Amino acid sequence: MSKKFWDEKFEIMNDGQMKAFQRDKLEETLKWVYERIPFYKKAFDDKGVKPSDFQKLEDLAKFPFTVKTDLRDNYPFGLCAVPMSDVVRIHASSGTTGKPITGPYTADDLDQWTECMARGLWAQEVRPDTVLQNAYGMGLFTGGLGFLQGAMRIGCAIVPSGAGMTERQIMLIQDFGTQALCCTPSYCMTIIEKAEKMGIDIQNSTLKTGHFGAEPWSVEMRSDIERRGGMHAYEHYGLTELMGPGVSFTCEYYKIHINEDHVYPEIVDPATLEPLGLEEEGELVFTAVQRRAMPMIRYRTRDICTLRREKCECGRTLITMDKILGRSDDMMIISGVNVFPSQVESVLMEFEEVEPLYQIRLKKKGYMDHIEVDTEARKEIYDAGREKIDELAKRISSRIQQVIGINVPVNIVPQETIERSIGKAKRIIDER
Ligand code: ADP
Ligand code: ZN
Repeated sequence: MSKKFWDEKFEIMNDGQMKAFQRDKLEETLKWVYERIPFYKKAFDDKGVKPSDFQKLEDLAKFPFTVKTDLRDNYPFGLCAVPMSDVVRIHASSGTTGKPITGPYTADDLDQWTECMARGLWAQEVRPDTVLQNAYGMGLFTGGLGFLQGAMRIGCAIVPSGAGMTERQIMLIQDFGTQALCCTPSYCMTIIEKAEKMGIDIQNSTLKTGHFGAEPWSVEMRSDIERRGGMHAYEHYGLTELMGPGVSFTCEYYKIHINEDHVYPEIVDPATLEPLGLEEEGELVFTAVQRRAMPMIRYRTRDICTLRREKCECGRTLITMDKILGRSDDMMIISGVNVFPSQVESVLMEFEEVEPLYQIRLKKKGYMDHIEVDTEARKEIYDAGREKIDELAKRISSRIQQVIGINVPVNIVPQETIERSIGKAKRIIDER
């Protein structure tokens, strides 16, 4: 019988031991950055704190936050604490909105990241005999290599298919007997849709598990993937600034466990920046516990979330986080109501008649923002004619009104008009 936990010591560590471990490591990390990175020295000095002011975990709240623009201002290596001779890998995020975010790793950092990924995949039924197809984009983006390393450590049979070429992905699943599929949830949807169109019974294929991450997705989308794809849909969460994927992962009970021996989580009020307690919704903030090349201190992720300390049936004691509601930069304020794309997605997914494909068009009407939702329907609806299409659009619109409380026109657009995603799906089109 194979072991239940990949890393028993940390995954089921008791709260007191974990806190002591985090305290000791964070103390070292605060000293490490203060002595080596001028940016942190200045930020600490400006706030009048020294690493020695950190005695207990709560003291972390005295230290300054780090934000995305700090990374941009210090591009490419201003926040790197070690010489290039100690760096073994440099990743970067897409950088679609300006300069990319760099992520340098020492050999130890890389090893820890690999362990975090192996831990998550192991919790998700991946074993040495698993045929695992890695359809995350390989390269600068942390997703592809992160999953590759974790799967290599476990010793799976890896198929590094990379993102895109959907028909070939399907052929590989069929020919190689892929059991575990790693990609973004929106790309998995693209694969399922394509297979269905090709008349392939993907529901009864060899696929057993999906390992999805890199973008927000609703619980309803997860159920749809499980039903139509015939697999258990697991989740990974992470960001380039912290290490990439591997920050947290779901167990078989859909609880998202944070690798808190590597990333220390806090929730703060995004407006006042005051720390919030467990079970309160706010912005996720992470501090690297043991990273050495680029240890982030109190990094504001912009991701809206809630932390919980609850007993999980899987036995892991690692703290859990809720599914990410959305990024604060994707939050829209419509008629005074805060709206995230994931909420619109949840409503859309209640309708069997629509495909899990949508885009939100953000427009300006006078001084006010308003949104319209484009989605595609199943083939039967188009076949049934205009009246049926209009009736469906109306029903969805009134459901959105009921659930989210805002008036949103819904357009059932012609088939194949919404761009199919191979990586992170673009949900908001800003037309203001
Ligand atoms: P970028 O998208 O800026 O290139 P990253 O690839 O590092 O940078 O993306 C990290 C972000 O992706 C996270 O901050 C979060 O918003 C989103 N993300 C990653 N995994 C998940 C997930 N499982 N659920 C929701 N959002 C996620
Ligand atoms: Zn669990």
